[in-house]
Amino acid sequence: MIRTFDAVVLGGGAAGLLCAIEAGKRGRRVAVLERADRTGKKILISGGGRCNFTNLHCHPENFLSANPHFAKSALARYTPLDFLSLVEKHHIPYHEKTLGQLFCDLSAEDITGMLEDERRNAGVELFLNTEIHAVQRATEFVVLTGTDEFRAAVLVVATGGLSIPKIGATAFGYDVARQFGLKIQKTRPALAPLVLGPQDRARYCDLAGVSAEVVAACGQQSFREKMLITHKGLSGPAILQISSYWSKGRGVRIDLAPDRDITTAIRGAKLRNAATARAALQAVLPNRLASRWLDLHVPDAWTNQALTELERQVHGWTVTPVDTEGYEKAEVTAGGVDTDELSAKTMESRKIPGLFFIGEVVDVTGQLGGFNFQWAWASGAAAGRAL
Ligand SMILES: Cc1cc2nc3c(=O)[nH]c(=O)nc-3n(C[C@H](O)[C@H](O)[C@H](O)COP(=O)(O)OP(=O)(O)OC[C@H]3O[C@@H](n4cnc5c(N)ncnc54)[C@H](O)[C@@H]3O)c2cc1C
Repeated sequence: MIRTFDAVVLGGGAAGLLCAIEAGKRGRRVAVLERADRTGKKILISGGGRCNFTNLHCHPENFLSANPHFAKSALARYTPLDFLSLVEKHHIPYHEKTLGQLFCDLSAEDITGMLEDERRNAGVELFLNTEIHAVQRATEFVVLTGTDEFRAAVLVVATGGLSIPKIGATAFGYDVARQFGLKIQKTRPALAPLVLGPQDRARYCDLAGVSAEVVAACGQQSFREKMLITHKGLSGPAILQISSYWSKGRGVRIDLAPDRDITTAIRGAKLRNAATARAALQAVLPNRLASRWLDLHVPDAWTNQALTELERQVHGWTVTPVDTEGYEKAEVTAGGVDTDELSAKTMESRKIPGLFFIGEVVDVTGQLGGFNFQWAWASGAAAGRAL
């Protein structure tokens, strides 16, 4: 069956739905094609089931991209307060957790329910369980599914990134970009746990479950948050954040005791020995991590010089991870459709009029804390207002 619309949106996730809603509200006839049996599956699993749907302190510096200026325009024209006004219009209870991160009080279902209501009210048609076989372009775009042929002058690709294949992530968006000759910035897992090499794993990973507040740094970037030891290496917010800036071969520097001093207590003690040092470390770090750290870094002597070195090591533990835990565990995919190919105002391809890319498939990746959804909403709105 041939179905004709003003715009066809591929992918019923965060970006695709917001885009379709904005366009529908402006009277466009819009279809959303979604291969899953419901919309917004990633929204449902986000934020531990409570969806960290935006961040009040959203700035361009919270995003990675080969072009750090690209996201500015869309982010300025659809702000966290714009999305929040939608949340409040639907009377969804929410709270600020830390650092401007807004979460649902009850469940991420509130956000998917809100988007579904808005979609229906905007007259946007939804086609679920719709596998796309091919995309063609003659005078207009033609999307072939198993049973139907969708035609529209505008095609919006909102199929997300490669993270979490088990809930249906696909490389489809990148394939469409390549098909139309658009450049792609190499993709990689981001916001992902880091895997340590065999030696460090043997040293630390039996402490899986132990966590501490640290500063994790790679190059010029650093994050002060919790670190968690896992069976394979390191995770927790500080590590997820720094993983987005890490690449193979680079070290990650970890300050295990930010703004704390370990060795003054040892220097002032009657006896300088391992027991005093253990007590000093345990005052700052979880007991098991403190003991293990000391076992592995016990000074040769208890001289002032050796204590200075111990202090330096605690604040500058450098590990060289061998990998991330990959797309299976990564919250997002960094890289994607090269922003040089797109208008920063509308997300439309510069080469192929009528072809838009929004959300995670684009080379714009947010830090942890609600920024990725804010990019999905903002880029979706930018395109939706231009269709
Ligand atoms: C575990 C986890 C927790 C997260 N928590 C947060 C959080 O709390 N806050 C935050 O800001 N970000 C979070 N994120 C990141 C956030 O979910 C994504 O950045 C965001 O969903 C991207 O939106 P999108 O619309 O571009 O892609 P998606 O939401 O992934 O939507 C893409 C849609 O396209 C569909 N699709 C894919 N291929 C096809 C195809 N060939 N044909 C038709 N449909 C297709 C998919 O089924 C999907 O519905 C989290 C991610 C994960 C994995």
